[in-house]
Amino acid sequence: MQKGYSTKVSRAMEKYLEKQRNTSFSVADVYDYMQKEGIQVNLATVYRNLDKLVERKMLVKYKTQGEDGYSYRVGDENGNCHEHLHLQCMKCGKILHFDTELMDEMSVYLKEQFGFWLDCEKSTLCGICAQCKEN
Ligand SMILES: [Zn+2]
Ligand SMILES: [Zn+2]
Repeated sequence: MQKGYSTKVSRAMEKYLEKQRNTSFSVADVYDYMQKEGIQVNLATVYRNLDKLVERKMLVKYKTQGEDGYSYRVGDENGNCHEHLHLQCMKCGKILHFDTELMDEMSVYLKEQFGFWLDCEKSTLCGICAQCKEN
């Protein structure tokens, strides 16, 4: 593969991710975006690029209930997304960071009461956000 080409792909991907700060997305979403931007890319390349960003902790990859495949979201600036749960709107895909004291209390509670260690990176709470609820 030519160098110019892969630079073009990763640039387009960065641009896309900037717009997704608080929204989850799938490989197909990124692929559609690339098509719209007129960038010739195959799904395998999109996968590879996303996984690279996951390795660099810029993205978080997780399994969504009731959906095939994986979703991605942009990592938190303060990088503590592995310490709290995320609420995902099933309608618009918005992500809310459950980054509150209650979260810490819950983790402690689960450990003490159930001997259960919550894996925040693999868990997502699904529901409807306030905006979508209104409409
Ligand atoms: Zn977070
Ligand atoms: Zn919503």
